[in-house]
Amino acid sequence: MPKIFSGVQPTSIPTLGNYLGAMKNFVTLQEGNDCIYCIVDEHAITLPQDPVEIQKNIHNLAALYLAIGIDPKRSILFIQSEVPCHAQLGWIMQCVSYMGELERMTQYKDKSQGKNAIPAGLLTYPPLMAADILLYHTDLVPVGADQKQHLELTRDLAERFNNKYGEVFTIPEPYIPPVGARIMSLAEPTKKMSKSDKNKKATIFTLDSEKDIIKKIKSAITDDEASIRYDREQKPGVSNLLDIYSLCSGRSVDDLVSAYQGKGYGEFKTDVAEAVVGMLKPIQEKYNNLIESSELDEVLDEGAEKAYAIARKTLKDTEQALGIGRIN
Ligand code: ATP
Ligand code: MG
Repeated sequence: MPKIFSGVQPTSIPTLGNYLGAMKNFVTLQEGNDCIYCIVDEHAITLPQDPVEIQKNIHNLAALYLAIGIDPKRSILFIQSEVPCHAQLGWIMQCVSYMGELERMTQYKDKSQGKNAIPAGLLTYPPLMAADILLYHTDLVPVGADQKQHLELTRDLAERFNNKYGEVFTIPEPYIPPVGARIMSLAEPTKKMSKSDKNKKATIFTLDSEKDIIKKIKSAITDDEASIRYDREQKPGVSNLLDIYSLCSGRSVDDLVSAYQGKGYGEFKTDVAEAVVGMLKPIQEKYNNLIESSELDEVLDEGAEKAYAIARKTLKDTEQALGIGRIN
């Protein structure tokens, strides 16, 4: 069966963008594939995190994974730092990477902007992500559009390694959905929605209350044209709301555009908010039932054990190909 791997950083509560762009596909891909999903806490610490907060975020993210429909009987769910092979292969992938290609990554440029002390881990984030993926001989990686560049680098690193040391790694493909791969910020619709955005009004979190969702969508930046049509260049705010509405309601963008001919932004936004609330409600209900249950630790323990069994074999093969450690 094809192998799927992906991860989410416990930097905050996942956003509507994380869900629509990536996590929703994690669930559907469980059909007919072997899936491994990760809470990438070692990625999260590439920027400083409060120890109490990140611990909470890890726990909440585990509950959310199950609440959206990740089935631990079918898929492996685990925490990255609990499988040491990630950091170990991450180091090896750093040694395969070039400074120039890492410095060209847009996520590095965005996240390091304005900082006078840039953590080295921000630069070496992509080799660690390559390690995450390559450890499991992954065929397909469901991600949002912002991770496409990192995926391409993963493929380059894997090919570079295989050409030099022999065929150890499977070359993965990205799985980027046609709609929803780049949900934009509600406050600055030319920028992607992000979990770690300081402006909380820019972002809908999957666990936001109905009241907050309505408030945030009502105050989403649009334009002065007062017409509802899809144009990502000229009307990024309205187009973003149309994408969100379409994905949350199952209605096509074309259908929505014709339904809202001649109607105002006020009515449109009320209906977008209702669709978002309706989609998130059952997830939030499941989440609330799971958050205090002991099931979470059992799932994560079992997940780490299963992931380790696969990862240690790939790590050993990699070390043997490189000739490091003792060969047996
Ligand atoms: P951070 O700001 O901490 O980087 P993030 O919102 O970018 O948070 P990640 O944990 O880095 O979230 O990414 C998790 C997954 O969500 C990745 O597959 C990423 O491509 C996807 N993703 C992130 N933002 C969006 C977005 N705005 N639209 C669609 N997919 C997204
Ligand atoms: Mg991100």
